[in-house]
Amino acid sequence: MKRWIIHVDMDAFFAAVEQRDNPELRGKPVIVGGLGRRGVVSTASYEARKFGIHSAMPMAEARQLCPKGIFLAGDHSKYVKVSADIQSILADFSPAIEPLSLDEAFLDVSGMEWLYPKPQEIAVKIKRRIKKELGLVASAGVAPNKFLAKLASDYGKPDGLVVVEPGMEKEFLRDKSVGRLWGVGATTAELLCSAGINTIGQLAKADRAVFEKFFGSAAAAMRALVVGADDRPVVSTHVPKSMGNEITFEKDLVAKEEMEAYCLALSQKVGRRLRKADLIGRTVTVKIRLASFKTLSRSHTLDEATCLDEKIYEVAKSVVSGMELAQGVRLLGITVTNLKPWMPQISLFGESEDKRLRMLRAMDSLKDRFGETAITSCRLLGENKYT
Ligand SMILES: [Mg+2]
Repeated sequence: MKRWIIHVDMDAFFAAVEQRDNPELRGKPVIVGGLGRRGVVSTASYEARKFGIHSAMPMAEARQLCPKGIFLAGDHSKYVKVSADIQSILADFSPAIEPLSLDEAFLDVSGMEWLYPKPQEIAVKIKRRIKKELGLVASAGVAPNKFLAKLASDYGKPDGLVVVEPGMEKEFLRDKSVGRLWGVGATTAELLCSAGINTIGQLAKADRAVFEKFFGSAAAAMRALVVGADDRPVVSTHVPKSMGNEITFEKDLVAKEEMEAYCLALSQKVGRRLRKADLIGRTVTVKIRLASFKTLSRSHTLDEATCLDEKIYEVAKSVVSGMELAQGVRLLGITVTNLKPWMPQISLFGESEDKRLRMLRAMDSLKDRFGETAITSCRLLGENKYT
């Protein structure tokens, strides 16, 4: 089967979101980044780039280049939300999505010829939906592998769509600078240039000894890369729709206290699974099957997504306390839905919750090493039947 990879990359993402939400910023040089003394530029709008400003540049330098620029600290939690919206658009086109950061992702769209004879039709549809639904501009690269797709998306920016057809790999790479190769940093690029090798095309003509000299153990991989060969798979981090656990009791449960203890045990299980998958969710659903086999299900949606046991438990407990369970309960289940990825580099919680999350993660890893019963909350102590 022919492989087709699409790399979607938002144009000037943070700055574009700010310009979208604040019309007075449109058409102006907007620079988003750290405003402190040692801050660096995260994203510069295309208007700001005309002044020579680019990401990773010290903010002080950016201010010198463009004193009239609009400098913003940005709103990370907003970008996380927009990023999730982009992901859900991408998920409509392929289950194999690998996000690289908040504003770019790979999609494997191989084998979709029956639906879209040409893979660029998918890229066109994605770009259109992002524009229409989110008011933002994305560039896309379409190619037989990840390396070429990423280069291609960059090549057409802004609002680009570049396709590298199979057989055109070498031609596409010929005049690109060696610094564009994955794994070639600034130092190696400089060394190559001083050896007279500036472009990927020139490097492709060099003999094996040159590769060994510059790349050592990576020489073979690099020789493949310079001719556009790259078989790395798209590592999908597709977000599941729900995560839940349930228990069927051997004897119908009547006591409210026991119900609560089981709610806690289930919340801990679900919370741990969420943390393991780096997911957070907003909606908690409790399912209860009564002695009569009648099944009840009640949901509650939180203001903020969570993966903390106690948040899930609080909801589950209050939901259960509002149910009429006198006839006895056969089954209890807790499920969290409305899931999205948790990004470790971004704090989504307050400081105390971040601390709590770190503690839970430490407990998770102890359980991974020493078994499920290594740590049990006081509430469950001596009641191993719940865990
Ligand atoms: Mg980008």
